[in-house]
Amino acid sequence: MRAVPRENFLADPYRRDAYQDRPLPIGHGQTISAPHMVAIMSDALRLEPGLNVLEVGTGSGYHAAVTARLIRPGGRLTSIEYVPQLAAVARENLRRSGESSVEVVAADGSRGWPAGAPYDRIYLTCTAMRFPPPLVDELAPDGLILGPIGGEPARLTRAHRAGETWIEEDLGACAFVPLRGQYGLG
Ligand code: SAH
Repeated sequence: MRAVPRENFLADPYRRDAYQDRPLPIGHGQTISAPHMVAIMSDALRLEPGLNVLEVGTGSGYHAAVTARLIRPGGRLTSIEYVPQLAAVARENLRRSGESSVEVVAADGSRGWPAGAPYDRIYLTCTAMRFPPPLVDELAPDGLILGPIGGEPARLTRAHRAGETWIEEDLGACAFVPLRGQYGLG
């Protein structure tokens, strides 16, 4: 967490608050995640070098930068952002931070991203009522998917397959912006 300069992912006047442990506005009604939530999610996803990871909700690119470091060497991170302008800013923020290997795609991530599938890890940084089926389909057999699921408050939920069974674990309350797009909250 110390290695990723969070101020690189914020614009004035919020840069001066970069080291406060809370979400901050990044424009288009969206927010950069709080550092503690990025840490909790990285831990819950059991990130390690070499994993193929899909992020839904690039936002500023901050969370992506942390993930990219944790899966080096050999890992691959594809990140999807619904708002094209945010995707462009995130690419620039990541480049400035030396994380140009992250592939940022401007698209509806609720529909998945087959080009890079299957993924060892998939995570959402926006709230859905359930894990979007296209994302579940793109998860590798031993994979983990993580994200805020449900109404108010959402629950940080981690899921995986165990044979024929789908297992979901509740990791506690959390607050994120809504998932948009085809399988979003509307
Ligand atoms: N991880 C980001 C947090 C961004 S907030 C960071 O650290 O800055 C969640 C983001 O999800 C927003 O930018 C929002 O535009 C995006 N989002 C919402 N619905 C989406 C969808 N269907 N596909 C991709 N991105 C989506």
